[in-house]
Amino acid sequence: MAKRKKLFTLKIDYERCDNCGICLFECGFDLFSYDIKKDRVIFRNPGQCVECFICEARCPEQAISLKIQ
Ligand code: SF4
Ligand code: SF4
Repeated sequence: MAKRKKLFTLKIDYERCDNCGICLFECGFDLFSYDIKKDRVIFRNPGQCVECFICEARCPEQAISLKIQ
């Protein structure tokens, strides 16, 4: 099956993010994790993102944004 082209790029604004961890539980594909060394939540495996916008909608700090590429 052909790989679907990504339409959006996901960014975390670390000026806004307070490490609450909600995105870790809200993403149905487990694409966020907590990086102990950096002491912050990170977005990993962007290739697996289905661009559902749930993380953006659920982040209480409006720190996640999906922007059209
Ligand atoms: S839900 Fe938003 S504020 Fe909370 S850890 Fe994720 S990006 Fe940061
Ligand atoms: S847009 Fe959907 S699949 Fe992509 S990281 Fe956010 S919740 Fe996960």
